[in-house]
Amino acid sequence: MGSVVLSVDAELGWGFHDFETPPIERVESGRRGWPVLLELCSEYDVPATWAVVGHLMLESCDGDHATHPAPPGWFERERGEWRHRPDLRFGPDLVDALLSSDVDHEFASHSFSHVLFGRPETDRQLATAELERSLEIASDWGQTVDSFVYPRNDVGHRDVLVDYGISAYRGRSPTSDGVRGLFDSAVRDRSMLVEPVVDEYGLVNVPASMFLFGFEGPARTVAESIWEDPMVVQARRGIDEAARTDGLFHMWLHPNNLTHERDDRRMRAILAYLDRRRAETGLTVETMDEVARRVAAARGVDGGTVAAASGPAGNGDD
Ligand SMILES: [Zn+2]
Ligand SMILES: [Zn+2]
Repeated sequence: MGSVVLSVDAELGWGFHDFETPPIERVESGRRGWPVLLELCSEYDVPATWAVVGHLMLESCDGDHATHPAPPGWFERERGEWRHRPDLRFGPDLVDALLSSDVDHEFASHSFSHVLFGRPETDRQLATAELERSLEIASDWGQTVDSFVYPRNDVGHRDVLVDYGISAYRGRSPTSDGVRGLFDSAVRDRSMLVEPVVDEYGLVNVPASMFLFGFEGPARTVAESIWEDPMVVQARRGIDEAARTDGLFHMWLHPNNLTHERDDRRMRAILAYLDRRRAETGLTVETMDEVARRVAAARGVDGGTVAAASGPAGNGDD
């Protein structure tokens, strides 16, 4: 019997601070979506992997970050436009709510300040600083980190993850997001399942199957008014496929995708269906860390060792 993973990129304003014009509605919805999603996970008893941006776990900061090797201007928005918006930069209250949830969520990292690891401008020093700082802050909160979600799924510097004891990351989805993904899944009958693999660095890549909010804008409104929410239909297909096989269906979102009640309804419909199928079949819900342990253990049984697959030293710009 298969399993389902839900991963959550929890970032408040940090997911958009480098945008010239941040999407206001999304930015302003981070604080709305976080408790809504936590509540839905509790209601349907769905443990998720919450990848949290380290900076938002701070109580405050002066915006200086003098010792952080980020490019000039990287912290400009928190020094300027968001200077008086602590609600977009800090969320210890939200992290408290996550950690005190009655559901056994996995606490994971989404970097310190949402640096894009795969960009050529991001050197090893910057990637290291992002990992180190986010793990320090996690430790201040009594948390260890096993899984990492790359900002904008921009994979890079995997050797740095290894150095900091990370065991899993979310790799890119083999299927397209949005309308194209819907077409591939519904019309071409493409599988929604993904295969977690141990990569050449010894990390477990737990690829995404589906971004739950990849189909937005006017097309969504039209599609929903004619049919059911097509993303709910697609997520159900993935859940059913996992229930019928021994495969993995991995869905993800940001709390800030829950901008309106209709987004909450989508999440509720998906989690309710997941809960029901879990009760009816042997389907399980796993965190990324649990998948990584399972995959590494299976590999151990096969005679291989996870650490032996490490890549060549200094080759971090993959
Ligand atoms: Zn700061
Ligand atoms: Zn992000």
